Amino acid sequence: MRDRMGNRLRRALASWTAAESASPWSLRRRSLWAALVALVIAVLVTLVWLAGRYEASQVQAELERDAADAVSDLRSSLSRHVQAVQALQAQSAEFRQAAALALLRQNREWLRVEWRDPQWHVHQHADSPLRAPAFERTPRQEVANDALQACQRARRFNGPAYSSTYFLPQSDGLGMEVMELCLPQLQLGQLVGFTVVTYGLQELLAERVGATFGRRNEMSFVEPDGTRLAITGAHRRGLRMFTTQQLLDLPGHTLVLRMDGRRAEPDLFPNVLTALVTGMSIALITVMVLLVKDSRRRLKAERDLAEALAFRKAMEDSLVTGLRARDQQGRITYVNPAFCQMVGWEAEDLLGRNAPMPYWPPEMVDEYQQRQAIRLAGNAPPREGFESVFMRQDGTRFPVLIIEAPLISVQGEQTGWMGAVIDISEQRRVEELSRASQERLQATARLATVGEMASLLSHELNQPLAAIASYANGSLNLLRDPGAQPQTLEDVHMALRRIAEQAGRAGRVINSVHDFVRRRDQAREAVAPQALLDAIAPLVNLQARKLQVRVLTRVEPKLPALWCDRTMVEQVLLNLARNGMQSMDRPDCLDRVLVLQAKRVTLKAQQSWVEFAVTDVGTGIEADVATQLFTPFFTTKAEGMGLGLSLCRTVVEQHGGHLEFEAQQPKGTVFRFTLPAAAP
Ligand code: ADP
Repeated sequence: MRDRMGNRLRRALASWTAAESASPWSLRRRSLWAALVALVIAVLVTLVWLAGRYEASQVQAELERDAADAVSDLRSSLSRHVQAVQALQAQSAEFRQAAALALLRQNREWLRVEWRDPQWHVHQHADSPLRAPAFERTPRQEVANDALQACQRARRFNGPAYSSTYFLPQSDGLGMEVMELCLPQLQLGQLVGFTVVTYGLQELLAERVGATFGRRNEMSFVEPDGTRLAITGAHRRGLRMFTTQQLLDLPGHTLVLRMDGRRAEPDLFPNVLTALVTGMSIALITVMVLLVKDSRRRLKAERDLAEALAFRKAMEDSLVTGLRARDQQGRITYVNPAFCQMVGWEAEDLLGRNAPMPYWPPEMVDEYQQRQAIRLAGNAPPREGFESVFMRQDGTRFPVLIIEAPLISVQGEQTGWMGAVIDISEQRRVEELSRASQERLQATARLATVGEMASLLSHELNQPLAAIASYANGSLNLLRDPGAQPQTLEDVHMALRRIAEQAGRAGRVINSVHDFVRRRDQAREAVAPQALLDAIAPLVNLQARKLQVRVLTRVEPKLPALWCDRTMVEQVLLNLARNGMQSMDRPDCLDRVLVLQAKRVTLKAQQSWVEFAVTDVGTGIEADVATQLFTPFFTTKAEGMGLGLSLCRTVVEQHGGHLEFEAQQPKGTVFRFTLPAAAP
């Protein structure tokens, strides 16, 4: 299951990596990101712009309110003035002048008050005491036309009327825009005259609205074409100008009040809303940048992961060692392709399987189940290989070497077992081959020994046969004698016994050789050390007699039986004894003694061993010979084969023992080898 998921992940990642490197996809992803960034920036800019616009509209609305207020202030001032003029009309002629002067002093915008009769003659007037008389430079009658029209209108309305504005040059060289108010004076429904008030527009603005609205705004009366007639208020430079116009419609004339408010451009953070929006935008962009960075990091990590997975997969696929993971319950959680190939089952068939596994030979199931139980209980030494036999899907068995180790998770807990399985059939085959060739070599060596023995045999058999022949001749001679005495009969008896003895001896000699050549069984058995030495004794003695060697045998009492291949060990002993005797076959070697020894030694705990030693007093072994002693076919003898010692060592080591030699003082060599004792 997990493997299947792993496979799917690997496949996904592999295709992802492939797609990732393909340019259209990365181009598309990049353009998506660019679109997102552009969109966010557009939204933010719009938001900030809208907030600024809103701010500006607020300023504009405020200005419009101000302008409306200013107009209404002007209107109420003017209507108060009308009332004051009406009150003035009610005054008697002698007080009128004084009252008019008081009013002129109060209202700075009033330039002059005139009283005219219905025929439009001035019969009384008062100029503002606060300034030079307005009509000083231009005589009144020259510019009275507007006032006249106003009065005609006033007469028609029966109420106050205003003239249009006109420019009035002044004696200081400048001039000013003025406007006339005409109020008809009625007595008992009869027109008795007009009161005309001349307004200075500049003063009207400054006095009536300048204080209230002039600090932040610039106010002016304008003509429809935009010409300014009068102006007041602060004029600030460098700021953004907001403008509004309001109509001040008076009876007979309409004035246009323009209000210019110069306000600082709503700056980047004009108010909390914009500040908030901007702050949030910055946060948004920051988050986005972080996200982009994070996604880049993630992409890189994913790419690394994909590469690592691809590498792992390539490694798994090219591995020749089978890998198998099992969980704590013994279920297979993972197998690699090499394992599947080895056992011939698909991964799908193996995953999740528990004992008995399909690759266990049916006859071994019980044993393997026990072994698995021991392993799962944690009683087996980890990382120690053991050999086993598995079965392929087609039923063929093959030997494997399994090395198992605990599977430790990232958290440090054991989650199961990981096993490496190596198919050792090939190794076995090679071993088998070498064993067979070894055996062939041994057989050859034995035959060589037999050849040698045959010549010795003929030599040895000569003696008993010669003895038998002479005894037989003697007996025949005795029997041919007609006057044979009972003593003679006795002699014949004795001769016949000797013949039988010698024949028996010859038979034994032949038998021992026959035995040696015939015995080919490989089976190991428990053999007493003494029996081994006894078995080779006739052959050893045969040669010893020829070479005039004394053979001494020393066997420690109560030695344990040995577990060995009898024939092979005898061959070893025979080889060593023969080598020893041959090394003493020199004229200068007078006292030729060969000692065959067997004693108990303790090498490894819990097992007793027996050591055989073959000691001679021969030539000894030169250093350059010693280095090649065990090399096959190395020999210093004219008729030697050079196989003896190499075979001896192979045989001893096959039994788990060890063959060594050392020089013997004052001369000679001792060869020692060990063999394990049979279990009691
Ligand atoms: P072979 O006896 O056919 O020569 P071996 O392998 O038994 O082959 O012996 C190899 C050589 O080792 C011999 O030729 C001999 O020179 C030397 N050698 C073996 N045993 C002895 C010994 N006991 N003393 C001296 N030399 C020995």
